[in-house]
Amino acid sequence: MIKAVRGTRDLLPPETALWNFVEAAVRDVFRAYNFQEIRTPIFESTELFARGVGEETDIVSKEMYTWEDRGAFSRDEAEKRLDELQEKLGLPDHEIRDHIKLVKVLIGEGKGQSLTLRPENTAGVVRAYIQHDLGKNGLNKLYYIGPQFRRERPQKGRYRQFYQIGAEVIGPASAGSESPARDAEVLEMLATLLDRLRITDWNLELNSVGTSADRVAFNEALRKALEPVKDRMCADCQRRAVTNPLRVFDCKVPEDQPIIETLPRITQFLGEDSRKHFEAVQEILTKVGVRFSLNDRLVRGLDYYTRTAFEFTHGALGAQNAILGGGRYDGLSEALGGPAAPGIGFAIGEDRLVMSLKETAEGVLRKPDVYVAAMAGMNGEAARLARELRRHDLVVELGDDSFRLKKSFEAATKAGAKYILIVGENEVKADAFALKNLSSGEQVQVARGELAGKIRGQ
Ligand code: AMP
Repeated sequence: MIKAVRGTRDLLPPETALWNFVEAAVRDVFRAYNFQEIRTPIFESTELFARGVGEETDIVSKEMYTWEDRGAFSRDEAEKRLDELQEKLGLPDHEIRDHIKLVKVLIGEGKGQSLTLRPENTAGVVRAYIQHDLGKNGLNKLYYIGPQFRRERPQKGRYRQFYQIGAEVIGPASAGSESPARDAEVLEMLATLLDRLRITDWNLELNSVGTSADRVAFNEALRKALEPVKDRMCADCQRRAVTNPLRVFDCKVPEDQPIIETLPRITQFLGEDSRKHFEAVQEILTKVGVRFSLNDRLVRGLDYYTRTAFEFTHGALGAQNAILGGGRYDGLSEALGGPAAPGIGFAIGEDRLVMSLKETAEGVLRKPDVYVAAMAGMNGEAARLARELRRHDLVVELGDDSFRLKKSFEAATKAGAKYILIVGENEVKADAFALKNLSSGEQVQVARGELAGKIRGQ
């Protein structure tokens, strides 16, 4: 039997009802904050993630699904075409040998663009922002919902294909994209969203990772502090200590933690502007009543973050307790060759969000309002009636006229329908139908024109 690949999974009904429930709530909340949807491709050129997310991050160095694309046409195909051309022109080999050589070299250069399944969506959104010059619209408030891919060790709450719901606020500084008001608004929106989904016991952890200028001094201090201790750390940390010391804070190896505890923190290196910005964010959050705690170890596993960085965790999720994460990325657009465009965003792990819900799939699923049971030879009449009822926005399950009445009742009950509607020859003649409430057992005769109202309980 061929099974879904390790780390991937099928989402089946009725569980998909929970996913739809989440996505509908999310779209509703995003609309209230005036965000609009963006959809970017699920694969991009590898370079985008290497430059955006950072070479030294776990995502880029270990977890990406990367492959070399074939060129527009294969080498075999090109050689065949060349042979045909040579034959047509009737030229001897030695006369066109140099041309053939040149064409082969060109084919070699044309093939093999490195592509990657997106491991996250912010880099793609910023690439689109640059490509379509979205800065001309002022402040962009964009959201996405879609699959992401990382080759991580699969476990509960961690998949190789997982889904993220994210949003980005990005634009020229003149449009207010740098304001702490935007950071606070995004965080308040997230609190509203979680409350709306009745996920109550979340914890917002907040930090400032400073500007790239703040980080120069911090990285220097980190490097110095790591120098005498790095040999006692894991191989990853030994490498990070040299290439990108900030990433040492991503380390999960238990033995390294006591050493990491002694390292300097970014908070001690924040410049005046970063500190003021961070204080302003906290002030607004306090004013609007969003609770948070400060965590000066929080640096997030992606290089593009600057200043505000945050995570929402949820107790019920166990080891993989981060339900969402995000932060500012004021330099990302420029790092990708675009204009200056400060921004802030987040990504919610939708798989984990669904796991944290109190709702059950059965609870949010809309069961059929009515099961239309066709008696012998009545498939056409039953279909006509079902079509009328569906136009009234009722959920209708349609049976089959080969079913005996008993089987129709069983099918209606199994589908969880509220009513069963009998469509027999006599009913069609009378233009009035037997409608039975499957829970109370009450049965009434209802005229065609009154069926929808009756089923809806009016
Ligand atoms: P990140 O893009 O790493 O900042 O992750 C943002 C959120 O995506 C995390 O807080 C998780 O909820 C979710 N997430 C990240 N990686 C995975 C994964 N492999 N499986 C499921 N959810 C994930």
